[in-house]
Amino acid sequence: MKKCPRCGVSLISLELTHRVGCAFCYQYFHRELESLLRETDPQGTPWDISVEPKEILLQNLQQAVANEEYEEAAKIRDKMNAAGQDVDPSSY
Ligand SMILES: [Zn+2]
Repeated sequence: MKKCPRCGVSLISLELTHRVGCAFCYQYFHRELESLLRETDPQGTPWDISVEPKEILLQNLQQAVANEEYEEAAKIRDKMNAAGQDVDPSSY
């Protein structure tokens, strides 16, 4: 089973608890989180992704913009919005 090599949180656990174990989970479960966040019922359990998500997402966002991957950048912005993070449009 796929587990975060840093904290040992499994994908099943992520799906059930909507809670990541550490900042590395965002990178390790990048694809899964993307679809999970998109599929999350707004009335359902909110995601607890308070573990340094903003820094990591912002980093990914800046990288995507730097590489002119605007589609990817838009996805990351959606993810940040889904996570309830404020996105400062002047930061990229
Ligand atoms: Zn982890």
